[in-house]
Amino acid sequence: MKIKIAKDCGLCYGVKRALRMAQDTRKHTTGKVVTLGALIHNPQVISYLEKQAIFSIQSPDDTESGTVVIRSHGISPEIYERLKKKNIKIVDATCPIVQKIQQRVNNLAKEGEEIIIVGNKKHPESIGLIGYSRGKGIIIESEEQVKKLPKRTTRAVLAQSTQDPFLFERIVTTLKKRTGELKIFNTICQSTQTQQKATSELAEEVDILFVIGGKNSSNTNKLYHVSKRILPNTYFIEKAEEITPEMLQGSKIIGLSGGASTPPEAIQEAVVKIKSCFEYQIHTEKDIQCQS
Ligand code: SF4
Repeated sequence: MKIKIAKDCGLCYGVKRALRMAQDTRKHTTGKVVTLGALIHNPQVISYLEKQAIFSIQSPDDTESGTVVIRSHGISPEIYERLKKKNIKIVDATCPIVQKIQQRVNNLAKEGEEIIIVGNKKHPESIGLIGYSRGKGIIIESEEQVKKLPKRTTRAVLAQSTQDPFLFERIVTTLKKRTGELKIFNTICQSTQTQQKATSELAEEVDILFVIGGKNSSNTNKLYHVSKRILPNTYFIEKAEEITPEMLQGSKIIGLSGGASTPPEAIQEAVVKIKSCFEYQIHTEKDIQCQS
């Protein structure tokens, strides 16, 4: 049995930076420290932060004092203004790459362009980006939605940083047929692209692949689909405990990958669990042999 871990996987620069900023803030602040929304889409890391007294709130209305940390996904200008009106300190941990996309949307909106954001409607980054579009943005999740758009002479298209590059390409191709002049900005983060490439390469080499991460992590979901397209024997799990000996039956090479919000501990725990499953299989076989 061999375990292979994707060359590039786990916490990205933006999430690590946001975690570090929140923990530094906690260390140097006496009052309440909260994050606006979960800092990271990973339940284990969230409970670790809660043990350090870093809790999350869902809306600016949920706090009147202390410090609010803005997570790597960023927020809309409207939410930022609502926070500024309160007697609270703001620590902006928006990923600098996301800030550049926000700036791009802002500039395109000033030019009066209709802006197509290829993203997930419910994802906080896309919700923040829409806020920068001054009513000129549309979030698109599928090619089918593009086909329903009216034809226009000009448009701009960009992507949520964690978007699947294949989906972005397909949407751009369909959008070109409905737009005279299409301004294309591939804003998919390099880290996302590298992780997706590493996971797809791994899926070619292994018998089974576990993508580890929070079920609400957009980026981890994308990795799962990227791998599933190549290797039907792909599982999306949140915790190592979900791996069972039955899943591993017949697999000689086992692959592991994790999204931008998956801490290295989660991958290591999966390695330990897989090793223990194989011991279990060997013991079980021995037991069977003894009985016969
Ligand atoms: S995936 Fe890229 S853009 Fe998104 S938070 Fe991580 S580093 Fe920043």
